[in-house]
Amino acid sequence: MAGSGFKELNLSKEIERAIEDMGFEETTTIQAQSIPYMLEGRDVIGQAPTGTGKTAAFGITVLEKIDPKSKVLQAVILCPTRELAIQVAGELKKISKYKTGIEILPIYGGQPIDRQIKALKKGVQIITGTPGRVMDHLDRRTLKMEGVKIIILDEADEMLDMGFRENIETIMKKIPQQRQTIFFSATMPKAILDLTKRYQNNPQFIKLVHKEVTVPNVEQFYFEVKQQAKTEALARLIDYYDLKLSLVFCNTKKRVDELVEDLKIRGYLADGLHGDMQQKQRDIVMSKFRRKDIEVLVATDVAARGIDVGDLEAVFNYDIPTDDEYYVHRIGRTARAGKAGRAFSFVIGKEVYRIRQIQQFTKTKIIAQKIPSISDVEEIRTNIILENVIDVVNAGHLGEYSNLVEKLTQEEYTSLDIAAALLKIIIDKEGKEASGKS
Ligand code: ADP
Ligand code: MG
Repeated sequence: MAGSGFKELNLSKEIERAIEDMGFEETTTIQAQSIPYMLEGRDVIGQAPTGTGKTAAFGITVLEKIDPKSKVLQAVILCPTRELAIQVAGELKKISKYKTGIEILPIYGGQPIDRQIKALKKGVQIITGTPGRVMDHLDRRTLKMEGVKIIILDEADEMLDMGFRENIETIMKKIPQQRQTIFFSATMPKAILDLTKRYQNNPQFIKLVHKEVTVPNVEQFYFEVKQQAKTEALARLIDYYDLKLSLVFCNTKKRVDELVEDLKIRGYLADGLHGDMQQKQRDIVMSKFRRKDIEVLVATDVAARGIDVGDLEAVFNYDIPTDDEYYVHRIGRTARAGKAGRAFSFVIGKEVYRIRQIQQFTKTKIIAQKIPSISDVEEIRTNIILENVIDVVNAGHLGEYSNLVEKLTQEEYTSLDIAAALLKIIIDKEGKEASGKS
């Protein structure tokens, strides 16, 4: 399974610091495997599914290779769609946060070309663009390729499916031979291999292969949610299933800290674990969790490594993992020793893809579900109280309390009235506590 620290890549201080800010703790597998070759200057073909961190893999590389002092175009990143071109430019901007003098521009159809021409005139070293619009600029000579040292084809399979082959080839031919050529793609159909043969030089082929895994017997569910609604969804599920001990996974350290704060505000006993914490601090958190002084533990994959807590009822994928194997490791923390366990995954928009991929990889079913509504949660909480009452009645030893009730019944109240009033007190109290949480 995945990567190691970013330290081992020997990146520049500026980039290391930006990645730290982004909260990435470890490289993903494709990052660990491809970045060293790319930094060496090798041509690379990287094959890895969606959501495995390919953008940062080539993004880091490109940013390490750019000379900020030279204002000519040095890197071209081709993307199949306008959304992707914008998204990739955004990620590169984050990675280059502490590098001064680097200009990144997305170039895509649909935006007035004049605006792009104006922006290009200011001196842009990196463009992320759709092949059609990049061609358009080449025809108008508003883009000059003489200084380009590196070209990336992101989602190359998609671009070919969309009929961009000719454009891609024309663009490649305009870029000096002395260049680094990198293909990233989720699949490697023959058409791509043909292109790589024509335009790459002794490429290093990196394919993400899965190891065999045993998938634990856990009930798996997923929920389509908005980013801002994740914490509310988590809170409702914890209440609905009356979870006393759960482990929540986030993809970044930053997210761990934020989520712990949000959960505490809502009144949950929550704490976090991530790689920035001192060993001593981690031990304290873990022993609290084992003693059940914490009901929700929020962690990154790295920090959760080796955690084995007996009675874990549920694992949440607050963020869907970047690596299918991580998914299996995460959900395997519950349902230990033959106990029932549940795994809940949150996905935003297009991330539903990842559910399909994980299902294929694990050959298991992840069932789509709706987040319980507030009234669902209230109803189930009431049922839990009623079940509690029945248990206490069945357990007996109520003599002292029965005497108290008997006293009240002598004063014209029925035992039904008394029982109803007591339930009202308990349920109202619970309601107040619950609303304190939201
Ligand atoms: P791909 O291009 O392979 O489909 P992306 O580059 O879009 O995947 O990355 C998917 C998600 O993973 C993004 O939200 C990205 O910020 C995040 N990500 C990338 N690298 C890491 C990492 N090392 N640790 C945590 N999250 C990461
Ligand atoms: Mg991508």
